[in-house]
Amino acid sequence: GAERTKNVLILMSDTGGGHRASAEAIRDAFRIEFGDQYRIFVKDVWKEYTGWPLNDMEGQYKFMVKHVQLWNVAFHSTSPRWIHSVYLAAIAAYYAREVEAGLMEYKPDIIISVHPLMQHIPLWVLKWQRLQKKVIFVTVITDLSTCHPTWFHPWVNRCYCPSQEVASKASQDGLEESQIRVYGLPIRPSFARAVLVKDQLREELGLDPNLPAVLLMGGGEGMGPVKKTAKALGESLFDKEAGKPIGQLIIICGRNKNLVSTLESLEWKIPVKVRGFETQMAKWMGACDCIITKAGPGTIAEALIRGLPIVLNDYIPGQEKGNVPYVVNNGAGVFTRSPKETARIVAEWFTTKSDELKKMSENALKLAQPEAVFDIVRDINELAQQREPANFPYLLTSSFTSLI
Ligand code: UDP
Repeated sequence: GAERTKNVLILMSDTGGGHRASAEAIRDAFRIEFGDQYRIFVKDVWKEYTGWPLNDMEGQYKFMVKHVQLWNVAFHSTSPRWIHSVYLAAIAAYYAREVEAGLMEYKPDIIISVHPLMQHIPLWVLKWQRLQKKVIFVTVITDLSTCHPTWFHPWVNRCYCPSQEVASKASQDGLEESQIRVYGLPIRPSFARAVLVKDQLREELGLDPNLPAVLLMGGGEGMGPVKKTAKALGESLFDKEAGKPIGQLIIICGRNKNLVSTLESLEWKIPVKVRGFETQMAKWMGACDCIITKAGPGTIAEALIRGLPIVLNDYIPGQEKGNVPYVVNNGAGVFTRSPKETARIVAEWFTTKSDELKKMSENALKLAQPEAVFDIVRDINELAQQREPANFPYLLTSSFTSLI
């Protein structure tokens, strides 16, 4: 008979740009592969259904990453399992009823978490609702190497790890081999599937058709030494003797509105485009020849697919640190915190060291995993085929809330 449309609830949070990008990647891949067999909801359940601190992760994240040392302490002090388990259990107990209602509203057949703090509480809710056998719960990890242990939860049906390194951590943390799959980081299908021609993109985006282009960014929040680097590039990409530019600069500031206005008020000797949050990142990357960014996993994975050599100029302590050797040791880019050094490297890539740029671009393409997101949704689909359908409406028993 005709299959019932299955509901998929993707749990994310707008901390940075990476979690949302991964959620959208999975949603779009489901649509492409399975059409209307699945109905997808992308939700920040915490924000919608709970109070502080869960409803303000964005605010806390922004505050923490601006005060990097604080983030460092938070990341490492919450690593031992007993600390975060107790903390999350307390929060879970406090917000149980709200989160339960929030989850159940979507009648999910499948729950996908793309956030390190969205395993524990939903899994408890499923357990207490006796829905563990009916609802599939999977985690899609969006950190490339040094990831926080709250990502790993033994009750999940699958834990999709972007790299072998993360997979090893998952099994050290007690996950079974049968739960772990390694396909790569899920990247929006617009990167993998669209045929993009650089010349056309440059015309469409209003860029100079001939000058080599460098893309400068700092994740969804426009973080890292963007302003200083932009200024240094303004000098290094201008050939004083010839009196003309040797390259053009595109700066994508994400949600950092102050950065947009600061950069727009500056005078430039080279062609510069300053943009806020862009929704067509595949096009901007496709129009450029290299990229400068903090070591965000999403941006790195996207740049690799587009074959862009990467200058990493910063990383968030903890989860982004391991991304630096991943890029550098594989010959797809370099790391420097110095804006001057960055500007010099790019100027060389655009003139005397174009061979190095080409080689790094090839290495980047070798590392790229554009099909990862499709492998993930196909595997989830297989899991769903093996399941008996969940009976709706769920019995909203009070068993969970009566426990606390
Ligand atoms: N991004 C975007 N538009 C912007 C800036 C960033 O779509 O204007 C996306 C970017 O393409 C990437 C994500 O936001 O997919 C950033 O993720 P990353 O893991 O690099 O860093 P985060 O912002 O999560 O710290």
